[in-house]
This record gives sequence, structure tokens and C-alpha cells, in this order.
Amino acid sequence: MAVRAGIVVTGTEVLTGRVQDRNGPWLADRLLELGVDLAHITLCGDRPDDVEAQLRFLAGQGVDLVITSGGLGPTADDLTVATVARFCGRSLVLDEALEQKIADILRTLTARREGVDFDAVMAANRKQAMVPEGAHVLDPVGTAPGVVVPGAPTVLVLPGPPRELQPMWRAAVATEALQQAIAGRTQYEQRTVRMFGLPESGLAETLRSAEREVPGFDRLEITTCLRRGELEIVTRYEPDGADAYSALADYLREHHGSAIFSEDGALVDDLVADRLAGRRIATAESCTAGLLAARLTERPGSSAHVAGGVVAYANAAKTEVLGVDQQLIEAHGAVSEPVAVAMADGALRHFAADTAVAITGIAGPGGGTAEKPVGTVCFCIRLADGRTVTRTLRLPGNRSDIRERSTTVAMHLLLRTLGEAG
Ligand code: ATP
Ligand code: MG
Repeated sequence: MAVRAGIVVTGTEVLTGRVQDRNGPWLADRLLELGVDLAHITLCGDRPDDVEAQLRFLAGQGVDLVITSGGLGPTADDLTVATVARFCGRSLVLDEALEQKIADILRTLTARREGVDFDAVMAANRKQAMVPEGAHVLDPVGTAPGVVVPGAPTVLVLPGPPRELQPMWRAAVATEALQQAIAGRTQYEQRTVRMFGLPESGLAETLRSAEREVPGFDRLEITTCLRRGELEIVTRYEPDGADAYSALADYLREHHGSAIFSEDGALVDDLVADRLAGRRIATAESCTAGLLAARLTERPGSSAHVAGGVVAYANAAKTEVLGVDQQLIEAHGAVSEPVAVAMADGALRHFAADTAVAITGIAGPGGGTAEKPVGTVCFCIRLADGRTVTRTLRLPGNRSDIRERSTTVAMHLLLRTLGEAG
């Protein structure tokens, strides 16, 4: 029997979309790692009746564990603990040791502020030291403690701010009450293969034939999705599915070897960063206006190989900053491979780099022509030894899709070019 869990995300700010839910997806990943099946993520506002309805729904689904996020603060609208206590049929009791702990935290927090009435602060926070009878208390990371209430289902109550929820989740997993709730879980293996340059339909077809040809295919739980223009294939299996997975991996390599760029979950960004070790890269961007430079510098330590980048949006910027010949632009248009090459050249020179990437394209919605419709993007990778790779693609989607997809294409061109350069 699989162990199943549900997550209740609470908070009117999340419900209305003003704050994007980061706890549901994060907890979903952790449950997956643990081998617990996540059945539902529900979302509701701060009203106790609504929170209780979600708890009742999940309990009715027979889940073994419910995790709540949010509503643990000191204010009157933070009612999750009281609601969970009522739902679990437990009374709220004052935990004096916990009250002392919160008082110590608050004393440190208020010490630097003048004119704070500490007794009033403590009275407001006494509420946070009220816990369901018999619950296991999780020490606060902020000021709000969490609780694990054993039962069927076991309910784990965590605070809303992700920087508090995440460390408290780790503490919760170590508790006896939570370990008991997930005791019957299955240990899964999970592998991720990433591909670029293969349409989703091509992969679907391969998986259909794999179903017939790969022995043990039915032991594999495969999910595929298209993300940032790449295909991600996540396969989950129990230990007895290991041979079936390696047969599937062989099958994918045989059919799509050139599209596979990662078999261990590594992202193209990680692989490009590795290949750039000992190099010095510069960017020249028009339609992406710095998105590629931002992506190349997302990882800590990127200063070791990123020299800099130029946003050359207007033609004048291309000629003045990057030294692109005005006549070249007139002859071929700003969105053309010769201009992309000249931009990359300019970036190499300007930053005394050994690797350059240039992107120039039409992100739309205006500016397209019959010959160069919206989505036409030209790329150039140029290395100091003169090696040059150019590409012109027609990317699908709206303006932001095209801009983002362009950075993905550039990353893959870089990866391949640097791979060949050694
Ligand atoms: P606090 O003591 O800060 O009030 P809390 O446990 O009561 O903690 P909430 O009041 O529900 O938590 O949320 C506080 C803030 O934490 C929100 O305004 C939001 O910025 C952030 N937050 C809450 N839930 C989420 C979520 N699911 N995803 C991302 N951020 C969240
Ligand atoms: Mg709150």
C-alpha cells in the first residue's frame, strides 16, 4: 500500500494570486523524494471554515498525511492551529516552555526597537504557544512554532513564509510522529533525462514503441513535459524496475542520442557553466536585452567566466558600442546572421573575451515581415580562434516565450560549440 499525502496551502494573498505559491511545489518535491504519493494540493483563504473544509476533504480521500502551510502568525486572522486542533478533536493547551522560547526570540527582535511595549507583544504572541494536546511541537524558525498532530490522518502544520517552512519541514521529517505516518512508503528511484531539439510528438511516438519493445516497461512510471523549450522525461520506479529503466535509457539513446544532453538531471545551465571553466564569455543581445547575460550569471561563481554583456537594442547601439558596420545592417537587416556575427565579434573585442554569443531577432508582436516573421531569431557563437556557428530559427509563442526560448537556444548552441571545441 502506498502512503498518500495532501497539502493545504492557506492564505488569502496566495488565493488571490498576489503571492505565488512556493510551498505547494516545494513540498511536492520533498514528498516525491521520500516516496510519498501526493494526491492533492488544495488552496484556500484564511477563513477557518474553509481550512476545515479542506481538511475534511483530504481526510475523506483517505490520505495518511496532511500538511498545511500558513496562518501561524500572532494576528487574529492566523487560525490554522486552532482549526487543526478542532478538526483533530484535541483541545488547545498552553505550552509554557514554548511560550518562554517565543518570548526569548521576541526579546531579541524587539531589543533594537524603541518604545515597544514588550508585555503587549507577549500577550499577542501567547496565542502562538497554544498547541493541540499531545502534539509534537516544532521549534520556530521565525516566531511561529509548527506542530505535528498524530492521528489518521497525521496533520503537520507549517508556517507560510518559505524561509521558515523549509527548515521546519526538515525538522518535522525527523519526528517520530511523522515517521510513523509515512512508515509504509515505497522507496522509489527517480531519473531525469533532458532533450533538446526533438518535438514532443517525436518523443511520444518513441515511447509508444518502447512500450512494446522495452522489457519491463510497465514497471516504469514515466512523465514527460515541455519546459523552456526542452523535453524533460522523469521516470520513477521501484527497485525491481532498475533493469527496465536501463533498457529504456538505451532505447532513448539509440533513437534520440543527439537530442539527449543530460541523463543525470543536470540543467543546460550547469553544463554550460562547466564548459566555460577557464574561458571568458561575453554577450551581445538585441531582442533578449540581457536575459542571456542574466541567465549566465544566475549561478554563484559565474564571475570566474562571465566577462560582461552589451544590450544593443537600437541599431545605433549596435554600430556605436559593438562596431557593427552600418552598411551591413542596411544590406541584410538588423535581424540577420551577418549582423549576429558582427555583434559577436564586437563583444569579443570589447570585453577581450574568448567566447561570444550574439542574439538578434523579432520578439513581436509588431515588426514582422513576410520574409522575417515574428519569432525569427538569429544566433551567433564565436570563439577567439575564429570558429563561428550561426543559426536562424523561427521560434513559436508570444513575445516573452520568444525572448525566453532564445536564451535556451543560445545555451544549447554554446554547449554544443564548446563541446566540439573541447
Ligand atoms: P506570519 O507569522 O509571517 O504571519 P504565517 O504562518 O501566519 O506567518 P501567512 O500569514 O499565511 O503565514 O503568510 C505570511 C507571508 O508568507 C505571506 O504574506 C507571504 O509573503 C508568505 N507566504 C505565505 N504562504 C506562502 C506560499 N504558499 N508561498 C509563498 N509565500 C507564502
Ligand atoms: Mg500570518
